[in-house]
Amino acid sequence: MKITIAGAGAMGCRFGSALFAAGHEVLLLDGWPEHVAAINTRGLRVDDPGGSRMVRVPARAFPADEPADLVIVFGKATQTAAVAAAAAAAIGPSTLVLTLQNGLGNIEALRSHVPETRLLAGTTTLGTELIGPGHIRALGSGETVLGALQASPSDHAERTALTLSAAGLPTRAADDVLSVIWAKVAFNCVMNTLCAIASIPVSALARYDGFDELAGSILREVAEVASAEGVAVDTAAALRLMKAQFDPAASGDHLASTLQDLMNGRPTEIAHLSGAIADRAQSHGIEAPLNTLVTQLIGLLEATWPRRVTRLHPNTQ
Ligand code: NAD
Repeated sequence: MKITIAGAGAMGCRFGSALFAAGHEVLLLDGWPEHVAAINTRGLRVDDPGGSRMVRVPARAFPADEPADLVIVFGKATQTAAVAAAAAAAIGPSTLVLTLQNGLGNIEALRSHVPETRLLAGTTTLGTELIGPGHIRALGSGETVLGALQASPSDHAERTALTLSAAGLPTRAADDVLSVIWAKVAFNCVMNTLCAIASIPVSALARYDGFDELAGSILREVAEVASAEGVAVDTAAALRLMKAQFDPAASGDHLASTLQDLMNGRPTEIAHLSGAIADRAQSHGIEAPLNTLVTQLIGLLEATWPRRVTRLHPNTQ
């Protein structure tokens, strides 16, 4: 199968290298010239718990120039509109487009480039880090869930899930994929933001006695907005999933992506998480004060991170 990865950062490289190793004709498309050059010059270095290997998967800079059978979009949510436009030539009359990105708004950005009958969406819990140009670290195991956006007799979702699973990326097709996507948004609106604001790894949240109350209040706002859009979010299940991450064996010293983005001076995806909840709440006439505040606090951190005080002043010790 001819597969184009549109936005080949950490996750795009992980999916692209696995599909390439499984025998597919893969092209990594990306906008970072040094990254593309490194992959083409010496191969993509993939570190995983089993060791390190070089994968000679081809890469090129945007824009795309020919259609693929499957386009997997993997930029940050902030980049989706631009990535989709730059990858437009890869989307032919029978191309399937799949987004597994975090946040709200990716589906809407892709709709103008592909009919909904050929648009698949979902989530993945596979963790991957981009170490530097042409170098990723694939962390542990995880599951990918995807589905079609409208009930249709096609088996696009099942076939795509089989393709990914056969490449060592365990994937299942779900009927109600919007509820899966919203559940991950709900998770990220709590875990990503609180870990970033407090500058702590996920497991450190276990030390805070007020977690249930704070997380529960943020979750209730997310669930109310989801409900206004016809999607049910199970807040009790979301809270249980979050608390399961407190176990260092589950999350270890994992740093949430919002915190990683702040530490690396990159824009966060907050506008597509809490920011999208705040915006959509307003358009539905719903109050979402906590998600509004959290969005503003992450904006404050983005603007001031380099001036952050990281140790106590000597006079206060
Ligand atoms: P990423 O930051 O690794 O890459 C996104 C884009 O930014 C790529 O085009 C990449 O080339 C570019 N980029 C990254 N560093 C750069 C630099 N220093 N200079 C120039 N360009 C640079 O993003 P990702 O982690 O692959 O995430 C893609 C999507 O998948 C996001 O929506 C994310 O939330 C989601 N996701 C990520 C993970 C994960 O573990 N990484 C897991 C699940 C979902």
